[in-house]
Amino acid sequence: MKVLGILPFVRFTVENALSPGDTAVDCTVGNGHDTAYLATLVGEVGHVYGFDIQEQAITKAANRLIDQGLDKRVTLFQSGHEEVRSFIPLDKVNNLKAAIFNLGYLPGGDKSIVTKATSTLAAVSALLDMMPTGGTIVLVIYHGHEEGENEKNSVLSFVEQIDQRHAHVLKYEFINQANNPPFVVAIEKR
Ligand code: SAM
Repeated sequence: MKVLGILPFVRFTVENALSPGDTAVDCTVGNGHDTAYLATLVGEVGHVYGFDIQEQAITKAANRLIDQGLDKRVTLFQSGHEEVRSFIPLDKVNNLKAAIFNLGYLPGGDKSIVTKATSTLAAVSALLDMMPTGGTIVLVIYHGHEEGENEKNSVLSFVEQIDQRHAHVLKYEFINQANNPPFVVAIEKR
């Protein structure tokens, strides 16, 4: 397929937003794949802050980062992303250029622990406020589970109402696929 799939599109967008030395946030660390990817992009002088409410996720991600020699570039918090404002040092906020959310449940984990609309939107609002111009937030929305449908609707209603003078907002979605395929919402602060 020549058209970018969902995950390649996420990577394309994040790579456009981030340069070595920048700060990035992985709002849903899970098994740490995106955290490691962001750590590669920000390089040795940049930094990644990662959030997950599950100890299992933080431990697995921490081990992955050590295995890949990326652990010094990352600080992981076992905390909700809705607390993002209290965890990012002020001197890193000016360079906060990208944040990723992979919504839903931890692959291979407890499917009853899912991201929720209220905390997701609290984190998106805080990040939008904190980020400099050009800062980009990418959400991958998995909505095939019960809470996912509610979260999808809440996120879409929120982002559709962001003033276009404040941010560019797009939705990237395959519209002929079966079984509620995930889609992307990307927000770039203007
Ligand atoms: N990107 C991850 C990876 O590479 O494996 C997958 C993330 S998984 C789809 C979603 C994660 O969000 C779960 O690990 C879950 O524990 C976490 N989560 C749920 N609510 C959260 C919250 N309020 N703040 C931070 N993480 C949360």
